[in-house]
Amino acid sequence: MVFRIIFLGTGGGRHTAMYQTRCTGGMLVEHGNGKHLHIDPGPGALTQMNRIHYDLTRTDSLIVSHAHPDHYSDAESVIEGMTFGGWKKRGHVYGSPTVISGEGSLGPCLSKYHQGIVKNVTVLRPGAVLDIDGLRTELCISEHSDPTNVGFRFCTDDGIVSYVSDTSFSEGIAKQYEGSRVLILPVTTPDDLRIPFHLCTEDAVSFIDIVKPELAVFIHLGVVMIRRDPEKQASETEKRTGVRTVSVKDRDILDVGKVLSISASETFDDEWIPETSP
Ligand SMILES: [Zn+2]
Ligand SMILES: [Zn+2]
Repeated sequence: MVFRIIFLGTGGGRHTAMYQTRCTGGMLVEHGNGKHLHIDPGPGALTQMNRIHYDLTRTDSLIVSHAHPDHYSDAESVIEGMTFGGWKKRGHVYGSPTVISGEGSLGPCLSKYHQGIVKNVTVLRPGAVLDIDGLRTELCISEHSDPTNVGFRFCTDDGIVSYVSDTSFSEGIAKQYEGSRVLILPVTTPDDLRIPFHLCTEDAVSFIDIVKPELAVFIHLGVVMIRRDPEKQASETEKRTGVRTVSVKDRDILDVGKVLSISASETFDDEWIPETSP
């Protein structure tokens, strides 16, 4: 079975999002028999899908991990795509309590209308195990300024691929991801430049030392991280941990099979209108 991630955006945090220094479009996962799952479509997601000619009526499910705009701003448009412009009740939306119903000063991030045009809506809770169109997905605890945020362990035929959504580092947080073959880390800041509720490169080193994956991937890069050369931050992390570590670029593809390979998407610049459009 296929398991492929297209990193629509590798930026993260409010400054990268507002300037679009890098896109913040989240990840598009192709899995199983042609199923498509979009995770955390922040600003830029739609533009990137157009650039690679991905027709978003092919999306089957959507995850919005938490109520920060770099993870949800394009989500309602993704729902409109998933439902053929709102004409066909289909698709499954998964979101934190803040995303779905709102809590405290956060959310809700999806209108009642958009929650009403999909087939199913599920609230994400740490410890739950989901079946997302046949993909076993285990939910982990995070420590973030949206306290309802969760992390993800996707159990693929070729090992566990984990997406650690926004969190601070602790041994307990990292231990949840033991057994992962691929560890996707939101490394917002470089070196030891720690900001609350996020990971810096030093934290990534400690995280990787605990999990010991085959591959670690840096995403969710903040503007200071981007200035300080994320590729170098990743290669120094690799030297220190002995674990292959890469910082991916917008639209890079990770294929998870017997080998783990990374390539760039083909891009187009034309005025594209998909066949499924009216
Ligand atoms: Zn974020
Ligand atoms: Zn966040």
